[in-house]
Amino acid sequence: MKLSLVCPCYNEEKNVRAFLDACKTALDGKVESYEIVFVNDGSRDNTWKELKALCAETDVNVKIVNFSRNFGKEAAMYAGLGKAEGDYVTLIDADLQQRPEIAVDMVEFLDNNPDFDCVAAYQAKRNEGFVLSFFKKCFYKLINKLCEIDFKQGASDFRTFRREVVEAILSVREYHRFSKGIFSWVGFNTHYIPYVAEERNAGKTSWSFIKLFKYAIDGIVAYTTAPLRLSSIAGIVMSVFSAIYMLVVIIQKLTMGIAIPGYPTIIVLILFIGGLQLTSLGIMGEYLSRIYIEGKRRPICIIKNYETNEKKDND
Ligand code: UDP
Ligand code: MG
Repeated sequence: MKLSLVCPCYNEEKNVRAFLDACKTALDGKVESYEIVFVNDGSRDNTWKELKALCAETDVNVKIVNFSRNFGKEAAMYAGLGKAEGDYVTLIDADLQQRPEIAVDMVEFLDNNPDFDCVAAYQAKRNEGFVLSFFKKCFYKLINKLCEIDFKQGASDFRTFRREVVEAILSVREYHRFSKGIFSWVGFNTHYIPYVAEERNAGKTSWSFIKLFKYAIDGIVAYTTAPLRLSSIAGIVMSVFSAIYMLVVIIQKLTMGIAIPGYPTIIVLILFIGGLQLTSLGIMGEYLSRIYIEGKRRPICIIKNYETNEKKDND
């Protein structure tokens, strides 16, 4: 099998058929052989039914995986990569925001450039609000400052990997998955190509601002311990300042007899130090909770059903 397309689906009943058709149009005749791995990530609509019907009808090699509940896109991508058998594997969304034609270009690039192991699409221009794109920019600046590995601004999960890269990604078995980090962490040579995300075919995005914010925190906590160091540094700086202030107060009292102006200073300091301590505790808690979850060694996802129409294997 030359190419596997891995497609996570959450409430995509109106999109999967259109997606499959778009793949056929884009890939037939362009890629020697291909398969599509759909992962139904606990959709609340009829996505699974639709996928089963597609699997039975189509002449394309299709594998369909059904989760026991919604485990998130990260888990869906992991399960899909596990089922994919192609020499090249492309991660692509089901909503047709990412055109399958681009996957053909990615495959061509990898064929012609043996030095590269991965092609990743990044959004050169984002069709989103100013506030969101501002926060995203800040996030990339911050995470690149804090982490050793590189995060390309605007890079999406829309990527094509060689098999070795897929194996490397699958060997990373952590529960809290932050794919962009994992892709960078495993290394290999990545070529970035710009793309423009289309409008969603149907349905709506499942990413709210809060979800994105949590995802950003996940990314930072997963790839750097800098926040922990930051809280130690803040503690040390505070101690030094308080020692200096103590000296100033003693000297003022002894030499000038100035009555120490107490009340507002004390309130401000108590609130400030209280805030600092709570923040430090919170930061520690973020790491601790991840150790706790990771320590349980739970599987990344639970697969309830798996079907394939293998007979049409045209390898
Ligand atoms: N998705 C998923 N599980 C989730 C949320 C999303 O498998 O919990 C899938 C979704 O079906 C789509 C892809 O991940 O194929 C990207 O999701 P979405 O379009 O909502 O994100 P956006 O394109 O807005 O970043
Ligand atoms: Mg989308």
